[in-house]
Amino acid sequence: FDSFLVDEHEQNGKWEGHSMFAPFTSGWQQTETEPLIVAMGEGVYVWDHRGKKYLDALAGLWCVSLGFNEQRLVNAANRQLTTLPFYHSFWNRTSQPPLDLAKALIELFTPVKLGKVFFCNSGSEANDTQVKLVWYYNNALGRTQKKKFISRLKSYHGSTLIAASLSGLTPLHQGFDLPVDFVLNTDCPNYWRYHLPNETEEEYSTRLAENLEKLILKEGPETIAAFIGEPLMGAGGVIPPPATYWDKIQSILKKYDILLIADEVICGFGRLGTMFGCEKYNIKPDLVTIAKALSSGYEPIAAVLIGQHIVDAVGTYSNGFGTFGHGFTYGGHPVSCAVSLETLRIYKERDILQHVNAVAPAFQKGMKELAKSPIVGEIRGEGLVLGIEFIGNKDTLESFPAEWAVGAYFGAQCQAIGMLVRIAGDIIMISPPLISTAAELQQIVKFAEAALKGTE
Ligand code: PLP
Repeated sequence: FDSFLVDEHEQNGKWEGHSMFAPFTSGWQQTETEPLIVAMGEGVYVWDHRGKKYLDALAGLWCVSLGFNEQRLVNAANRQLTTLPFYHSFWNRTSQPPLDLAKALIELFTPVKLGKVFFCNSGSEANDTQVKLVWYYNNALGRTQKKKFISRLKSYHGSTLIAASLSGLTPLHQGFDLPVDFVLNTDCPNYWRYHLPNETEEEYSTRLAENLEKLILKEGPETIAAFIGEPLMGAGGVIPPPATYWDKIQSILKKYDILLIADEVICGFGRLGTMFGCEKYNIKPDLVTIAKALSSGYEPIAAVLIGQHIVDAVGTYSNGFGTFGHGFTYGGHPVSCAVSLETLRIYKERDILQHVNAVAPAFQKGMKELAKSPIVGEIRGEGLVLGIEFIGNKDTLESFPAEWAVGAYFGAQCQAIGMLVRIAGDIIMISPPLISTAAELQQIVKFAEAALKGTE
């Protein structure tokens, strides 16, 4: 790693800041704290620019499912770059990879019959697209009032104007005059934190469904267009749905003719041990958002999967609107699509679902042992995604004072001993590459144990 070893800042003896405006980084960190500069990767490991090795227990940002040096993806990108590095997909012009990928995705997503696939570059763009598509659909049907969206507190759907508004996390709103006014919030389905004394998971789910119904009736069902939700909540703290939650929510949505959008950006492509989160929880969405592991993070790409019934209705009733005036220069980029197609082939050939289901139970069990710690409130997860929530008082569920920064301390301990995790307040999130071996997952448990000891 000689080439990483000398950097100009080190030569000066101190960190002097950088010129990049870093996303999701507070102002002082932009200048005063040297960032972790990741320089190379191999398998589940990355190395920083000084040559220190880390087990990346977050797979980049929940996306590098096939690890950091999958040569087949590099070759797929290379082949496409050599034959056709770019062509757009506007005005009935396109290239072959997006056509092949759309077909492959329609075959892969089995919970409902899909009609079409709309390509975007990020999960945020895809969720903005969902809103426009749903409005367009309701306008086509003459239901011009049916425009409001319902999302859950603590959900994450992206950071563009609309996607941030759909997200139920305050940091995405404050300072930005968000959320926009057509987004309503309903409960976060965190049973551990919010259930009443003696309330079972099933009863809790019934209460949440009743709350949703009350909200719909208060606003007027004729004004509510869609509900968006992650099958298992990711960035809001890895929150699996309580028992019977999705059945009950779906029956309320059906009753009031409200579309369901499944945001599969984190759950999609095997993370929970099923190809999609919708399969795991028996969700039958009208629309689906996918991104991240679609290309194993190697190229930016996202997509909106559109149910056949939506395609049929829009096709039948939208003639008056003319052109569908929405799209992105790089939507359906041939290189991103070629890499995604190769990613899907690898998932199938190597039976990634079988692998996840073989290694996940021991990993979940090992990690859940850490819940015995007096400072851990809950460890929850599914497949290869897991959240650790620290708590000040296990009986009252009172949090630690924010200024103690327990989560940040634990995260820093992990980093010091060679593991990268996601820190969000007092919640730690882990979502290792799906190719992680049993031994590598065991190493995550060991690192977490050591970091926890240091934090207690
Ligand atoms: N939806 C979910 C569930 C996500 O987790 C994310 C990103 O983490 C997004 C949407 C936004 O995706 P992007 O960062 O690609 O815009």
